[in-house]
Amino acid sequence: MRIGVPTEIKVREYRVGLTPASVGELVLAGHEVVIESGAGEGIGCSDEDYVSAGAGIVQTAQDVFDFAEMIVKVKEPQPSETAMLKPHHTLFTYLHLAPDPVQAEGLRQSGCTAIAYETVTDNEGRLPLLTPMSQVAGRMSVSVAAHCLQKSQGGRGLMLGGVPGVLPAKVVIIGGGVAGSHAAEMAIGARADVTVFDRSAKRLSELDAQFAGAVKTAYSTQVALDQAVLQADVVIGAVLIPGAAAPKLVTRDMLKEMKDGAVLVDIAIDQGGCFETSKATTHNDPTYIIDGVVHYCVANMPGAYSRTSAFALNNATLPFALAIANKGTRAALNADPHLARGLNVADGQICCEPVARDLGMHY
Ligand code: NAD
Repeated sequence: MRIGVPTEIKVREYRVGLTPASVGELVLAGHEVVIESGAGEGIGCSDEDYVSAGAGIVQTAQDVFDFAEMIVKVKEPQPSETAMLKPHHTLFTYLHLAPDPVQAEGLRQSGCTAIAYETVTDNEGRLPLLTPMSQVAGRMSVSVAAHCLQKSQGGRGLMLGGVPGVLPAKVVIIGGGVAGSHAAEMAIGARADVTVFDRSAKRLSELDAQFAGAVKTAYSTQVALDQAVLQADVVIGAVLIPGAAAPKLVTRDMLKEMKDGAVLVDIAIDQGGCFETSKATTHNDPTYIIDGVVHYCVANMPGAYSRTSAFALNNATLPFALAIANKGTRAALNADPHLARGLNVADGQICCEPVARDLGMHY
C-alpha cells in the first residue's frame, strides 16, 4: 500500500503520525511510505532519519495526499486537509467527531474512509489507541494544575502538597479510568489530598487496591460530586462515555460557590468537556478565568510532550496500520471487529452509532 504522513498543522501540534521506526516496519512489510519534509521535526526526527528508515520525502501536504492510499495522522484533519481527501483515501487518525458536526460533514462529503483511533477497541472493551494519550494527558494534568494554582496564574497561591505544617491542596478527579488514574498517581506523588469519583463500582475497587488507600474513592452521584467540587482546590475532568459527548458535571452556577482561585482542568474537552463553562483552548493561550475559577481546556494536551506522545502513540497504532496496509482497508476491517469499531465514516455515511447519535445524524 502507498502510505503518506503530512506535517500536523493544528496549532502547536508537534506530534507526527509515524515515527521512523514505524516507517521501517511498514517498509519491511513491502509498503511505500512518503513523509512531508519536516513532519518529524517536532519529535526530534529529521528527514534523514525517515530516509534511513526507507521513506520518501515530499515537499507539500498536497504531494502526500496525491501519493497515498492511506494517510496516517495524529489530529483530526483541518479544513485544508479535508479538502484534499478523496474517496480512495483511508484516513487513520484521531477524529473526535461527536462534538464536531462541521468536520463530520466535511468527511462525509469527501467520500473517504475514516478510521478514528479513539473508537478502536480491544478484547476487554477498552480503547487501546486512546490509552497512551490518556496516560500522557492524565500525568500532565497535575503539573498543569500545579502551575495554574500559582497566584500569578490566577490560582489560589497553593502548593499541591503543602509543606510540613500546611495542609495540601484538595484534588478531585472525576473519572478514574486511564487519564484519571494516571492523574491520581501524579497527584499522590505530589502529596496532594486526592479523591477520585467514578460511576463504575468495579473501577473504584481497582483504584482502591492499586493505590492502597492513598486516594479516597467515591461513587459519582451529582450530590456527592457537587459537595466535593465546592471544597476542591483542583478539579480534573477525566470522564468518558465512549464515542459520545462528555456529560456536563460541573455547572456554571456551581462556579460561583467554588473557592476563588480554584483550578479546573478539563481533559475531556476533546469530547466537548465535562464542565459547563469549558471551551477548547490551545497551548498558545491555555487558560481563562470565569467567576474566579481558572479553566485549562487544551484539547491536544499530549502535543506539549510531542516526543513521548508520538512514540507512545505509535506503539499502539502500528499493529493496526500494518494490518490495514497488509490486507487492504476493507479486508482489515472485516477481519478485525476491534478495528471495525474505529470506522467512523465510509461511503459518505457516519458509521459509528454513538457518534451519529450525538451528531443527530442518520445511522
Ligand atoms: P476511560 O474510559 O479510561 O475512563 C473514563 C472513566 O470515566 C471511566 O472509568 C468511566 O466509568 C468514568 N465515568 C463515566 N461517566 C462518569 C461520571 N458521570 N462520573 C464519573 N465518572 C464517570 O477514558 P480515558 O482514556 O481516561 O479518557 C478520559 C477523557 O480524556 C476522554 O474524553 C478522552 O478523550 C480525553 N483525553 C483528552 C486528551 C486531551 O488532550 N485533552 C488526551 C487524552 C484523552
